[in-house]
Amino acid sequence: LQEKLEGAFKKLRGHAKISESNISESMREIRMALLEADVDFKVAKDLIENIKTKALGEEVLRTVSPSQQIVKIFHDEMVELLGRETAPLDLGQPQRILVAGLNGAGKTTTSAKLALLLKKQGKRPLLVACDVFRPAAVKQLAVLGESIGVPVFQPSPDEKDAVRAAQQGMEWVKQQGGGIAIYDTAGRQEVDDELLAELVKIRESLQPQEVLLVADAATGQQAVSVAKTFNDSIKVTGLILTKLDGDARGGALLSMKQVTGCPVKFVGVGEKMEQLEVFHPDRMAQRILGMGDVVSLVEKAAEAIEMEDAERLAKRVQQAKFDFNDFLGQMKFMKRLGPLESILGMLPGMGKLKDLNVDENRMKHTEAIILSMTPKERSHPEIINGSRRKRIAGGCGRPVVEVNQLIKQFEMMRKVMGNKGMMKGLMGSMMGGA
Ligand code: GDP
Ligand code: MG
Repeated sequence: LQEKLEGAFKKLRGHAKISESNISESMREIRMALLEADVDFKVAKDLIENIKTKALGEEVLRTVSPSQQIVKIFHDEMVELLGRETAPLDLGQPQRILVAGLNGAGKTTTSAKLALLLKKQGKRPLLVACDVFRPAAVKQLAVLGESIGVPVFQPSPDEKDAVRAAQQGMEWVKQQGGGIAIYDTAGRQEVDDELLAELVKIRESLQPQEVLLVADAATGQQAVSVAKTFNDSIKVTGLILTKLDGDARGGALLSMKQVTGCPVKFVGVGEKMEQLEVFHPDRMAQRILGMGDVVSLVEKAAEAIEMEDAERLAKRVQQAKFDFNDFLGQMKFMKRLGPLESILGMLPGMGKLKDLNVDENRMKHTEAIILSMTPKERSHPEIINGSRRKRIAGGCGRPVVEVNQLIKQFEMMRKVMGNKGMMKGLMGSMMGGA
């Protein structure tokens, strides 16, 4: 699958512009890859339509290949569909979490995993076994609860009514002095009316603030119809996809999310109690695409844009034309790009500046000083004499010594451009670094 996608993207490389024809060929291959990842046919088709429209409408950035650009658009669209952000668990009143799903989906395991997660957060979780359908189910939860040190309510072995078991569970929680109660329910081989009727009644009794549907990633598209049926009868509030440690790519999630309209909250990544993770849409998008490289490709694309600016700057530096305008531009550019430490490292000749401690306030002051210069002063710093310095200082509200310092450092920087080690040190001090 990865090869396929890479092949598809490779085909796009080398084309200066995204055209209808070169894009549709690649999109066909991507669609195949998505279908292999269990993405619903219609969803895959829509996704590709969307991306095609965007890619054709968007101007191709100069230093980015069309393939990189498409990866970015594709990735972003997937993240958008998956929910963009992580969705936290609602821990509000009445602090009841109902866990539902088919047999073998991972309800019992996930209930215990959730309890452990809450316990680690310093909360007080309680587990309630409501699966009176399968003989060993109560015992299974009791064993798991014991292993993680969370109290478990076990209905009497004679209790055959799941709704009554849930109600007894509520009483038990009260006796325990309250806590976040997780109700593990029974499933069935397939969705059937008996199961749904039972869950509807349990839901009515509990009035839980969270109804989590657990689905096995390996069931692929079947999980989508399950999600729809469950949601129609018991109104789900969150999805959990288990067994993502297996081969399944989890593409069904796109549709599950669509048909239920509720967020994916967690993913199960193993049988161990710790192996439950908060759902991250961006990671999932990568997985569905089937290429762990997608994001690094996207990052490369972004880096390429940055490099373009850096290269232009490098030329100016070489020609000793670097002035305060360039400096200002560079500062703005850095602000836009975020973490300064990583961005500074991309300036030509600056190398990695991991140790550089950038002081944002200092940067603001430097920027203010430059902004108070006239355009001519910025492009010809040598004309900035004493009275101009006073004026600049007055304009930006910084002391004259600071203006002097900046200009002195800037002049030195111009002199030593080309001497990379010194430049790094000087830029560092101008940005407020150590
Ligand atoms: P339930 O019938 O829905 O309660 O499912 P269980 O919680 O009993 O889980 C069924 C099987 O799936 C058990 O063997 C679990 O250990 C396993 N399981 C659950 N979640 C995961 C997961 O995320 N990864 C893996 N590999 N196995 C899981
Ligand atoms: Mg179970």
